Amino acid sequence: MLYSRIVDTYAKIEATTKRLEITRLLVKLIDDTPQPIIDKVVYLTQGRLYPDFLGIELGVAEKLLFRALATVTGQTEVKVTILYKKLGDLGTVAEQLLKEKTEVSFEREALSVEQVYNAFDTIAHEAGQGSINSKLRHLTNLLGKASPTEAKYITRMALGRLRLGVADMTILDALAISLGGGKESRPSLERAYNRSSDLGYVAKTLATRGMKAIESLKVTIGKPIRPMLAERLSDAKAILAKMNGECAAEYKYDGLRIQAHVSPKGTTLFSRRLENITGQFPDVQQLLKNNLAATELTLEGEPVPVASATGELLPFQLISQRRGRKYDLEKTIQYIPVAFFPFDLLYADTIDFTDRPYLERRERLRKLIPKSERLDLSQQKICNDPVQLDEFMQEAVANGCEGLMIKSIGPDSTYKAGARGWTWIKYKRDYRSEMQDSVDLAVVGAFAGRGRRGGTYGALLLAAYDKRNDVFRTACKCGSGFTDEDLDKLPKVLEKYRVDHRHSRVDSKIEADVWFVPGLVLEIVGAEITLSPIHTCGMNSIRPGAGLAVRFPRFTGKYRQDKSAEDSTTTDEIVEMYRAQLKKVTENTTVEAA
Ligand code: ATP
Repeated sequence: MLYSRIVDTYAKIEATTKRLEITRLLVKLIDDTPQPIIDKVVYLTQGRLYPDFLGIELGVAEKLLFRALATVTGQTEVKVTILYKKLGDLGTVAEQLLKEKTEVSFEREALSVEQVYNAFDTIAHEAGQGSINSKLRHLTNLLGKASPTEAKYITRMALGRLRLGVADMTILDALAISLGGGKESRPSLERAYNRSSDLGYVAKTLATRGMKAIESLKVTIGKPIRPMLAERLSDAKAILAKMNGECAAEYKYDGLRIQAHVSPKGTTLFSRRLENITGQFPDVQQLLKNNLAATELTLEGEPVPVASATGELLPFQLISQRRGRKYDLEKTIQYIPVAFFPFDLLYADTIDFTDRPYLERRERLRKLIPKSERLDLSQQKICNDPVQLDEFMQEAVANGCEGLMIKSIGPDSTYKAGARGWTWIKYKRDYRSEMQDSVDLAVVGAFAGRGRRGGTYGALLLAAYDKRNDVFRTACKCGSGFTDEDLDKLPKVLEKYRVDHRHSRVDSKIEADVWFVPGLVLEIVGAEITLSPIHTCGMNSIRPGAGLAVRFPRFTGKYRQDKSAEDSTTTDEIVEMYRAQLKKVTENTTVEAA
């Protein structure tokens, strides 16, 4: 298959914002793709070479591309750099320079998808001495054969900035239509994806082994499962009503969600967004290795920092720095150890537990994990009374937790990978503000700072995720809660998301000074949710012409690096929060009047 066939689709996708049109274009692309390379075409369209969780990045530096482009086009690196400064996108620079060159005369051999993929694959695995020259050779070779449009996408891909904005769910829609026999196959495909987090693998299984293989796809050690997520409520009675009168309440630990895959070959730890974070938690790895009564197993749990002397739970922030250098990590592990609290079992010794009800999973987990000093199942209690639930909540908060996770114990209590639903409810008390709960919002834009904040950002434009339409709608402009250190680092952290126009998946009535691809997620608290004529979150859901906004928003200091933009609080959740707030006000007024 020719690379130009894929590139043609990319260009058309970039020219539209309509999800249906994007799906139609992808269906045609999949129709035209030979079975053996369907996985590669899917990964390339996602802007990567492998599923995300393998963490294999192309890692080509801008400077190397300057050199490759200069060599191929016969220009100086200085000219390439100047043009880049002017246009802001190296892909466009490559396209423009190659256009100028082809006008002179240029005989070229057409690039195939395999050629491009294999060259990128080699580049991604190059390491050590001589690797820079070798990468340069591969890039020059590819760009030398590319058309101007192909060069644009090869350059962006090499930099890890393809950014077509195609959501995983849209690719699943297209696979269902093209290879699954129609939209009816979509739920089974999504289920397979939720159990493997690997779209290329799902596509290949579907193309080569059909829907039967998709329907029987099981949890596999080493392929992370997309996490089950919870709804939220802040009233014990309402929670019990949702749970048909009885539930399991567990401590909601203020740690970091970890999915552990243990096998005789070793242990892999994945974060909530399914990044491989094994290197950050050698202590958790060791705890599991020494204590499990199973050969192969997948479980979820939370590591929480603890005081070495007393075992008391400490604030999460103390382990958030584990992303740092190795030297720091060793020190951190020594001085701020963690305890690990497993809370769910997904797979053990050939049995896929995701289809089993909660109580069975819990029972098995208990048998597999003997309690030890730093390893224990999440604290749990079966409750059927709101007073009992509130007491347990107070106990959890007093013991350093965020609140409770309430879980269904009914027949509906299977592990629903990748779904947010009412069989898990988080019951949190947030004493820091009037808002019942914090929200996690994606940074989509920024405003230049003035005075003391000159040279950095004065405020950020933040958005919630509209899952149904796969767009981000603004919910507030936030300038408080940032420390000097935050202000200093924000422009650097945000640089990799910067684009020169509002991103096609951002819906905003406000003009920001700088725009970003939604990527960085921040935790925000506020006084309340209010109606807003200028923010687009939940537009028209409460009142025509009005959206919803967080009033007096403040950054809590928590960078949600464990979340991707699509994991931000959804617009529907904010609408729900607004309704819950209204209900509370009405109830309070009625009580006062009585
Ligand atoms: P939040 O922003 O409130 O942490 P979230 O959006 O990351 O939530 P939710 O599914 O809404 O994810 O809330 C559940 C989170 O609570 C889990 O992702 C997990 O990290 C954490 N957690 C802590 N203790 C437990 C527990 N006992 N059972 C399940 N999840 C727990």
